[in-house]
Amino acid sequence: MRLPWLIPPLAAAMLALAPAAVAEGLPDLGDVAQVDLSPQAEKQIGASIFRDIRLREASYLDDPEITGYLNRLGMRLVAHSGEARQDFQFFVLRDSTLNAFAMPGGYIGVHTGLIAAAQSESELASVIAHEISHVTQHHLARMVGKQSQAQLVSMLALAVAVLAARSNSELATGAMMAGQAAGLQSQLNYSRDFEREADRLGINLLENSGYDIRGMGSFFERLQNFGRLYENNAPVYLRTHPLTTERIADMGNRISQRPYRQVPDSLDFLLVRAKLKAQEDDAREAVTHFASLVKERKFSSEPAAYYGYAVALTRLKDWAGAERELGQARRFKAASPMVETLAAELRRQQGDADGAFRLLRAAAQRYPQERAVSYALMETLLGAGRLDEAQQLGVADVQLYPSDTRMLGLLAKTYALLGKVARQHRTQAEVYVANGQLLAAIEQLQFAQQARDGDFYDQAQIDARLRELKRQQAEEMRRR
Ligand SMILES: [Zn+2]
Repeated sequence: MRLPWLIPPLAAAMLALAPAAVAEGLPDLGDVAQVDLSPQAEKQIGASIFRDIRLREASYLDDPEITGYLNRLGMRLVAHSGEARQDFQFFVLRDSTLNAFAMPGGYIGVHTGLIAAAQSESELASVIAHEISHVTQHHLARMVGKQSQAQLVSMLALAVAVLAARSNSELATGAMMAGQAAGLQSQLNYSRDFEREADRLGINLLENSGYDIRGMGSFFERLQNFGRLYENNAPVYLRTHPLTTERIADMGNRISQRPYRQVPDSLDFLLVRAKLKAQEDDAREAVTHFASLVKERKFSSEPAAYYGYAVALTRLKDWAGAERELGQARRFKAASPMVETLAAELRRQQGDADGAFRLLRAAAQRYPQERAVSYALMETLLGAGRLDEAQQLGVADVQLYPSDTRMLGLLAKTYALLGKVARQHRTQAEVYVANGQLLAAIEQLQFAQQARDGDFYDQAQIDARLRELKRQQAEEMRRR
């Protein structure tokens, strides 16, 4: 049986790169074995598992607004971690169970069920702060302990599979069956010492980032209650991050020593939760849910309730109805790019491309960093056949975000529609490079060479890039 997300053999070779003493300078945690795993190797292993999840895991949530929000929240915390390398990446899996997990190298996955269960933004931030601390302290690598290098790779893959396991997925079962050692799962839980350390550092991150540290106490208590309710089906998070009475008391102590701080939820947090809720279940049920929320005024945020109502209505293709409810959300001066992209989409669906452009161009001015706005603008241009403008936008955008596979894909599509074959393949090659698929990238560049419709400058670029990728490919073959 295939071990899910098993790391390709090349990662084994990467491990040999730099067996630096990672554990140096870390707090002493008793007899924890020293780990021969450099931060670079951790990063490469994490990147490889993450790529696999992104490309193959059906529950991977490919929503730039939700992912964008989670990354803003995560990076706000990371900024206070004192970590010199801050290339963390946060992603979401559409799964109703309560779980979050950290992979080596700073890749942190969060289930939609956990976002839904958080009753405040500080609660969500508290779990993420805890996970960030597992990463900055290299707990996963230290938990797996001293192994032969080949074993280390598969143990880490296995650890991630266990941490990420979802209640009904084959993931856990597959990982268990592939597991070399009996009772492996029990070894793959974070130890009490690691948990205490992640709690302590997590609370500091929360506090320094301006969140309400009581969020951590209340969320872990809620998790514990879930655990009591569903004794045999306790959240996987509790199995992998054992929650003891002592831990809760410890958290309570730390929290009670700090001054009280009221921190309101951001509008984005409320909108993200509404969007997730509106996409759950049957479309009609979702519409009924939000209709009764606004009717009975049982919401924690009125604009978010109307926004969720609008999202739910789009699932029934009731564009006019959705526009009406989104208008209600706007009455509260709900300023968010999520409102603008939805408004533009509703205009577009009703045949008003110009109206969609006006909204998106204004949103792009106001929120220049928001990826979802750039994608929507690009898609609207393509849909309207305004290919030259799409090319202009795409070219400028990939200069800023050279490994953004979604934008690269849209630009490749633009070139295809324009009949610029060499540039189409040249751009598609970069999509594959970003996905770690070197051979496919090389093939695309060869197509680009054969196309011969590029100018001298294009050809020179294609040749140079092809030489570079071939060299990389040869290097990887040598390492295997
Ligand atoms: Zn933990």
